[in-house]
Amino acid sequence: MSKTKLIVISGPSGCGKTTIATEILRRHPDYFFSVSGTTRTKRLAEIDGKDYFFLTKEQFEYKIQHDELAEWEQIYGDYYGSLKSEIERAFSASTSILFDVDVNGALSIKRKYPQAALLIFIKPPSIELLTERLKNRKTETPETFAKRMERVEMELGLAVKFDYTIINETLEQAVDKVDEIIDRALQSA
Ligand code: 5GP
Repeated sequence: MSKTKLIVISGPSGCGKTTIATEILRRHPDYFFSVSGTTRTKRLAEIDGKDYFFLTKEQFEYKIQHDELAEWEQIYGDYYGSLKSEIERAFSASTSILFDVDVNGALSIKRKYPQAALLIFIKPPSIELLTERLKNRKTETPETFAKRMERVEMELGLAVKFDYTIINETLEQAVDKVDEIIDRALQSA
């Protein structure tokens, strides 16, 4: 059995999944992070090649046509996709790799890698809190905020298809739980 687990952290926008993934990577510097490709505009604090590979629409579509993506989705009007090369890198190094992807991307990874994938859904304690978190993040315009909120119901409805669901009450407790789940999965692999 391969030691590589594809640890997929997903959930609605504003649920805290990126913060959780960052903290898991801080605790486990040996895990890889799957740097996705996207056509969305880079945010100020983001680094190209670390947070995402920021691509033009043409570059992204080239990757689709040349089968370079393990999965991809159009979300809020932009392309996002996981690169096969990132997954191959993890399998070659026999290391686990963390994904921060949307719910549909997570389910695609499970379909493609049923043995290796471990799907963890991060749920906000309430829709009110999710709305507040997304507003406080100050990364969204009123339009992108509305687009993100429109998807929440669909996203929450897919939680049942995940291996585990964690409610993000506090960051530390959520990270501990995710860490525990990963530990258990790696031990039984
Ligand atoms: P954001 O624009 O906030 O960075 O990401 C928007 C959504 O796209 C989030 O739910 C994020 O997890 C998701 N996402 C990021 N990378 C990928 C990817 O490679 N594939 C898919 N399917 N979703 C992604």
